[in-house]
Order: sequence, then structure tokens, then C-alpha cells
Amino acid sequence: MTKKTKIVATLGLVSDSKEVLKQMVENGMNVARLNFSHGSHEWHGNVIKIIRELSQELDTAVGILADLQGPRIRTVVVENVEMKPGEFVLVSDIFYAPNFQFPISNFQSISNDQISNDRKFSLDVEKIIDDVEVGNEILIEDGLMKIVVKEKNEGVLLCEVIDGGTVKNHKGVNIPDAKLQISPITEKDEKDLVFVLSQDVDFVAMSFVSTGANIETLRDKMKNILGREDNLPQIIAKIERKEAIKNLDDIIEHTDAIMVARGDLGIEIEGTKVAILQKEIVKKSLQAMKPVIVATQMLDSMIVNPRPTRAEVSDVTNAVVDHADAVMLSGESASGKYPVESVRTMKDIIENTEASPFDDVTHLLTLNGEGDFKKVIKSAYELAKSSNAKAVVLGSASGFTARLFSHFRPEQPMLVVTHNKKTYHQLSLVWGINAKFYERGEVFREDIDWLIEDAKKNGVLATGDKVVLILGRTPDGEHIQLVGIKEI
Ligand code: PGA
Ligand code: MN
Repeated sequence: MTKKTKIVATLGLVSDSKEVLKQMVENGMNVARLNFSHGSHEWHGNVIKIIRELSQELDTAVGILADLQGPRIRTVVVENVEMKPGEFVLVSDIFYAPNFQFPISNFQSISNDQISNDRKFSLDVEKIIDDVEVGNEILIEDGLMKIVVKEKNEGVLLCEVIDGGTVKNHKGVNIPDAKLQISPITEKDEKDLVFVLSQDVDFVAMSFVSTGANIETLRDKMKNILGREDNLPQIIAKIERKEAIKNLDDIIEHTDAIMVARGDLGIEIEGTKVAILQKEIVKKSLQAMKPVIVATQMLDSMIVNPRPTRAEVSDVTNAVVDHADAVMLSGESASGKYPVESVRTMKDIIENTEASPFDDVTHLLTLNGEGDFKKVIKSAYELAKSSNAKAVVLGSASGFTARLFSHFRPEQPMLVVTHNKKTYHQLSLVWGINAKFYERGEVFREDIDWLIEDAKKNGVLATGDKVVLILGRTPDGEHIQLVGIKEI
């Protein structure tokens, strides 16, 4: 596999068999995303087992990402509510629901004949109304319908319809301007988290993050459940709230990785600004050396068609040119007609783009902070760039050295050996990293020699090739930084 940009594929009922998953891995899936908005624990557990088996059988790292649903707000509707622009509706939370009666005379801006008590629906999050203010917009079903809050009275909102439609049960709701106090980890998430941590997953994605403190809350919970401080799954902050854009720097500082969750983000902010925001988030993530995934609707039409639209090809190409670590498939691989073809198409777009000069990094990517270690790795990158080395070979325990080197987005393949299973799996998300797991523990030099032999065996390197070597650790675990060039 020569591609550098990684592929995250969401799994679902069309992609839960070993047969299909094998083809997905062979066609370039690096990370499997399990969406905990759907599916039983039994289903997820079974898929995790199959992926771990396949990863061993195919000698390929496949990361497992558990995506927690988070505080997604949904409608509770007894009978569909038809809304026309200019009309009024009442909205409450499940505290009143689903059949709340409310004295309409409590509202001043309308008269009794302007609204009846059956023009109402509820939201399924208790106390959500407390966080909503007069003037806030409420968006229903992927932003299809829009209402605006005119009055708030005893936990009930009087709203005017801006964009009408039919409000049905269990549809997603976004309230972009509300400062939501509700916990980003719901009761369902808590249960899912306990399950997920019993399954040894590599990444946990947190939905509807607002602040860096949200990330720390999740990390503390994981430490508590696991009873340890290290070797935790990495946390992926999903950037999909207006609030998260305001607190972007704070979130990037606290999280391990980032997802540009364009689905909800495109509802919470103006859709026409999403592409530019995506570029900003990718750039900031790169500077902070945190893996970043571009997600949602990348090959959307492939849910029903065997080929993508030209615009979708451009979308993936642009994410690759911006040097995001990964691009993601959602419905395309989870519930569409062409799960394997979607992965293969994404791989083809990535390979074609990476082969083009438009993909080349013309300037050194800037990096936050300037420690000695960073300087040494930067010099290794310069060496790799100016030499005719075929590959960069390095050992990495926590994955830090590998991520640091990857940050420079070098042209050569990066071959990484690690004795840490978690690191091995987690590097599946990092741009350009080809990781191998070496059973025999922390052995200075021996693991690198093993890696080079393995690469020769697989035809990645040949005798006489030059490689840039980065040795990060001594046998007693002390940090040293040794960079060299070697003919193998
Ligand atoms: P979701 O996240 O699929 O869990 O909603 C992705 C997005 O919002 O883009
Ligand atoms: Mn989302």
C-alpha cells in the first residue's frame, strides 16, 4: 500500500461480515469506525472481534474507533406537526412530553386563536429548554426546518416558523446559539463507554464537544473505568458545534485527535463557510501535531451509485492536498450499496492526488513549540529530503516520534516499529505511517533490524537501498536522539 492519507470507514449492516471487511482492508481501510448511535453492544463486539482477526491474518494495523452519540437532541412527536412559515408552535422538553398541556394565555405575543395546544412537539433532553434563549434558532431534521424562539415561559417555548415542513418523531435537532449546559456525556454514552473500554478500542470519538474541559472530563472517566493513567484510547474531538469553533484552540490543545464533522457543523454554521473552516481546522491540527480526519458526505452519492460525482472527487482531492491525516466514509460504507467500491474509489483518488505535483509540500509546515527533540526530528526530515533515501525507519514506543516525523509530511514511506500494541493500532490514523508490531519487547537496534528485514521480505526495501534511521531510545528507556543514514 503506497498511499499516505488514511481512510476511516464507518461500519454498518452492509459491512459487518468478514468477507466484506477483508475486502475493505485490502482496498485501503485503515480505521474502522463504529457509530454508537446505532447497533447493539453484541453487534459492535462481534465486528471488533472480526477486525482484530483480520488485522492479524493480513499483517496490517487496523484501528478501531468507537464514536459516542453524545447529547444529540431529537424530536418527540405524537402526531406529525405541519408547520407553515409565519405560524407558531410550542416546544418543550420530555419533562412535559409528549402530551404537555400549556395555558396559551401565558404568552403575550399571540392570542388564543393564533395557536392551539396541539401545535406542539418536545425535545428528548431533560432541562434543555433552560439553555435556550429568546431569539435562538432551532433547526430540525438536518436544518430542513427552522423556527425561532419568540417567548419562553415555564419550560415552554413559543416559536415562530421560518422554514416550514412536517415535524416527525425522532428527528435530529440543532440549536447553534444555545450555550448548552447539558453534559456532553449522556447516560447512554456512559454505558457505551464501559462497554467500549472492555473491548480494547484504539480511539473514542466525542460528539458535540464544546470545550477542552469536555475532553478532560471524558479522559478522567476513562481513567476511572480502566483504573490506569496510561495506554488509554486516544480521544477524537468532533468539531460540529458553533461553540467548538469559538473554542477551537482550547479543544485542540486538550484532545489527542480531531474530526471535522461536517454534517452537523454545516447545520450549526452557514453551510457555505464549511470548506474554509475545514482548511483552518486541518492547518491548526497539523501545527499541533494532532491527527485530523475530514468527515461526512465525501462520496455521498456512492450510497446509491457505483461512481462518485466530480464534485465529490474534488472534495477528497482537496482534503489530501491540505494534508489531512485521514478522510472518512459514513453512510457510503455503513449502509450504502457499494461499501467496498467506496473504499477503493477513495484509495484511487488519494493515490492519484498524492502522485501529482499539486500535492507537494512546498514549505516546511510550522510546528507549535520548538524543543530540542523537535529540532532533531526536523533535521532528520531535512536529511531525508536532501538524500536519496528510500524510506525513513524509526522505532517509537508511545507513537510520539512517529507523529512528529509524520508532521513534516515527507515524500518517503515511514516504516515504524513498536512493541506497544496500542501504539501499533493508533498509528493507523497517522498520515504516511506504516507501523509494524514487534513482539520481543523494547530491544534497541534489534527491533529496527527486524523491521528492515521485514520490509525487504515484503518488497518495500531492497539490499543496497539507503534509509534514514531515527533511534529514539536506549535499552534502559532513556531518551536519546540519534539520526543517521544507512545502506541496508
Ligand atoms: P455523526 O458525526 O455522523 O455522528 O453525526 C459526523 C458529522 O456530524 O458530520
Ligand atoms: Mn455529528
